[in-house]
Amino acid sequence: MSEVRVRFAPSPTGNVHIGNIRAAIFNYLFARNNGGKFLLRIEDTDKERSTQEAVDALLDCMQWLNLDYDEAPLYQSTQEQHHLEVAKNLQDKGHAYRFIKGENEVTLFRMPWDLENYDCIREIDQQELPLHADVELEIDAGGVRFATISRKQKAVPMEACHAGYKDLKVFDADGKEIFDLNSNYASIISGDTTVKIANGAKITWTRHSVFFTDLIKGELSKPLDSMKDLVIVKSNGSPLFHLANICDDITQNMSHIIRGDDHVENTYRHVLIYAALGEKTPQYAHLPMIVNKQGKPYSKRDGDAFVGDFRTKGYTSDCLFNYLLLLGWSPGDEEKCSREDAIKLFQLEKVKSTAAQMDMDKLYNLNGQYLEVLSDENFITLVTPFVQSYSWYNGNEELLQTVAKLMKSRTKLVTQSESWEYYFQLVEPNDEKLIKKILGKEGMKQALLACADLLNETDFNDPDALGNTLKSAAENAGLNPGKLNQPVRFCVTSANGGADLMDTLALIGKEESVKRLKHNAEKFCLA
Ligand code: GLU
Repeated sequence: MSEVRVRFAPSPTGNVHIGNIRAAIFNYLFARNNGGKFLLRIEDTDKERSTQEAVDALLDCMQWLNLDYDEAPLYQSTQEQHHLEVAKNLQDKGHAYRFIKGENEVTLFRMPWDLENYDCIREIDQQELPLHADVELEIDAGGVRFATISRKQKAVPMEACHAGYKDLKVFDADGKEIFDLNSNYASIISGDTTVKIANGAKITWTRHSVFFTDLIKGELSKPLDSMKDLVIVKSNGSPLFHLANICDDITQNMSHIIRGDDHVENTYRHVLIYAALGEKTPQYAHLPMIVNKQGKPYSKRDGDAFVGDFRTKGYTSDCLFNYLLLLGWSPGDEEKCSREDAIKLFQLEKVKSTAAQMDMDKLYNLNGQYLEVLSDENFITLVTPFVQSYSWYNGNEELLQTVAKLMKSRTKLVTQSESWEYYFQLVEPNDEKLIKKILGKEGMKQALLACADLLNETDFNDPDALGNTLKSAAENAGLNPGKLNQPVRFCVTSANGGADLMDTLALIGKEESVKRLKHNAEKFCLA
């Protein structure tokens, strides 16, 4: 294979969707696996919607995910002159034309009429359709329009490029041919003739389709009679996505285009523009969508959908990278795959051609696995800014570090650190149901107050001693051993679970634990 050159080409119009960044990840892995280049192109042609903020968010997101790109990013807006030259060139060669569409004069790419010269176009079959009597068939320089008849005898409007209706013939109700497109084509596209036929009853034509081979989806095709000529320059003179995207891919010498399959429809048109320009078409790989449980495109409505959402929620970048890379590609059955392994093993052919379903539970659990294997130091670095942002944090860094070490293996999301408040100060329980469930039993207040007295005499640095005290306190109260652990934890921490109880008590310390136990038992036990 000649040098692999791929790119991530986002439009900076808002937050970065996980579907987009997954395309970036797959491009990155493909380039790194092949020893090729991974480029970043910022498609900022839409001046109203592209903002500097969005560009900054994008660059930040690339950095956070460690998606290091080669060469300086190319800002599409800097290429505008070149795009317009290419449009002019297409126009000079008869592949594009100026046309008044509604109120605006735009430049359109003309779908090729000389179909036989295009390797990507094949003849399919002969077609015929009845024409609806109420709608005139109309052909002008912009294409062919007519209405056929639905099963309920309604008019069904149709419109396509001339090439879609190659060999078009129109017949009247007596079966007499009254028009043929091939012999009128030249004068129609010169803009001299607008054909309007009111008495047509039937049309026939030769259907052709445009083909390309997708590295993930296999051979794909689309009939030309379902395609219109394509606007490439707006009335205000600015080049549109299709032209800019193709020109830049040519300028940047892309070997492969790996992007979401929402672009398949564009690609049918793009291969024709490449051919009209006499340029070699890159190889395409369209990634299946990320979908929700209902199989619909995954969006903000389904939950966190932007990279920034996951970052602020406390997902690690390595976890998100791992999760997204295994969303639709898999080297085996493993849930975890390091960046290094992914680079070694990545193959486009192994990308699944079916949609990939987002599974938040899986992502959540995977994040826990990533946090668990972080070094204490790295976990502390990760969690510190989060803790510093909580209103309850009192600046006790040493305590924070000890708590972080204790809680690391129990943390699935860094934001769960918000619940660590009880290590820093008394937190009163506020969940009525839990209060009733845990502290509501008869005799509980006495049992806990007696336990507090026993704890006051216990060495908190000795887990066995602490365990024995809790056991004895339970026995004294006529409870099974261990039955006081949960109420004690609840009174000291207001939480229903957490790290090992003895470790927790030791960390909070004797004086504070006994004080809280008494305070909350007095205040919240029903009896
Ligand atoms: N700017 C386009 C997008 O974000 C790029 C598509 C492509 O990768 O070619 O959808």
